[in-house]
Amino acid sequence: MTKIKTQAQLSEELKKKAKEQGFDLIGIARIPGSDRIKLRTAALQRWLKAGHQSDMKWMGAPRRQKIESLLEGVNSVLSVGLNYYVKKNKNPGAVSIARYAWGKDYHKVINQRLKRVGRWLTKERPNCRWKVCVDTSPLLEKAWAEEAGLGWIGKHSNLINQEYGSWVILGHLLCTEPLISDKPAKPLCGKCQACIETCPTQAITEPFVVNSNRCLAYHTIESKAPELPKDITSSLGSWIAGCDICQEICPWNRVELPNSEEPEMQPKNWVLELTKQEALSWNDNQWNESLRGSALKRIKPWMWRRNAKAIQSDNYP
Ligand code: SF4
Ligand code: SF4
Repeated sequence: MTKIKTQAQLSEELKKKAKEQGFDLIGIARIPGSDRIKLRTAALQRWLKAGHQSDMKWMGAPRRQKIESLLEGVNSVLSVGLNYYVKKNKNPGAVSIARYAWGKDYHKVINQRLKRVGRWLTKERPNCRWKVCVDTSPLLEKAWAEEAGLGWIGKHSNLINQEYGSWVILGHLLCTEPLISDKPAKPLCGKCQACIETCPTQAITEPFVVNSNRCLAYHTIESKAPELPKDITSSLGSWIAGCDICQEICPWNRVELPNSEEPEMQPKNWVLELTKQEALSWNDNQWNESLRGSALKRIKPWMWRRNAKAIQSDNYP
């Protein structure tokens, strides 16, 4: 007869299962979390009140501020991170695409892997209920990752890990099982302000607060406006999809970082080579073909053309 695992054994083995799925960062937090979760929730409320979400209405979903509304009876969160840093750079003269979008759509990759971990949990504890959350679910995911010890939220509002920097995609497995939690991470930005000082549009209005109305990532990926505003295009440089400037300047990313060997994280062949002229010449079919299975599909072909048009070729870094 198999011996029933203690909660400590279950927690350790759950983390091992996540490791087997290729996750680089793994930790557990317990609900309701420390006071820091309350602080992060209050910060989200202030951010929404200030209108920094622009027209991303989903950021204001009340469920985002209450983890219990995502899974009734939730007791613990398994937080995971997948390194997406690939030691490559775009060709000179090519347009810039944010690193997270170089490879396959990370939502699918993380979702599938976390579901495998969840199915293992069901075998161990048949009465346990669980739910996978990746980015699209209304969860304060960076705050929970910080609570589970994966890293701290930097002043640019991304999660930073001491070993992997901020090039990490997060995912969460919520479950009703009371697991053993890890220690929350300590913030290590210190007096640094590099991201705030380097943002070309001054979108980081104060530490940890990014005003989407000024952020190149919001304008190139989320905004449905027919034209990009002038004060955005004047700072656009070569960014056609997203912006990594505040992460590239961060000292935690400017050291030798572990290179991801994950086939799913490797850049599609055109991603590092696409020129402005090519971007403008692709028709809808070519976009569909090139963007198959990519997170960049969120940017519709007309938005790509809008962004490409706004790029100043003499503005390439
Ligand atoms: S993503 Fe770019 S525009 Fe947005 S805050 Fe960072 S540096 Fe500024
Ligand atoms: S650039 Fe400096 S302040 Fe900004 S996130 Fe990195 S360490 Fe923190």
